[in-house]
Amino acid sequence: MANVHRVLLAEDNKINQVVAAGALKKLGYVVDIVDGGGDAVAACLHTRFDAVLMDVMMPDMDGYEATSKIRENEAALGTSPVPVIGLSARAMAGDREIALAAGMDDYLTKPLRINELEQTLGRWIQQPADATS
Ligand SMILES: [Mg+2]
Repeated sequence: MANVHRVLLAEDNKINQVVAAGALKKLGYVVDIVDGGGDAVAACLHTRFDAVLMDVMMPDMDGYEATSKIRENEAALGTSPVPVIGLSARAMAGDREIALAAGMDDYLTKPLRINELEQTLGRWIQQPADATS
């Protein structure tokens, strides 16, 4: 299990959590789930994730603010930036630019499609060596 990749899913909606976590597990990733931005920031301080899927709309701290704080902590600690992929239910012009300006690396619209999720994660992290074990 040396090649397992760990993804943090930050999503406040329980149904979206189940859908995204199921897709991630199917793609061979180990998934940690938090349901708020503050918890995502804390999780990134104590665990080195291969990527973060970050819902942009969460009640306690939104995904943009959480990503900014993750980037601040990385800069302060001198750790390499974790790839952050924003998740939004909206597909508005300009959303991708807002996500990138907040320090996100990429952006996906919900509902998630597993092939898009696979392609997007594949741009940022090495794929699991064996997704079937
Ligand atoms: Mg949300």
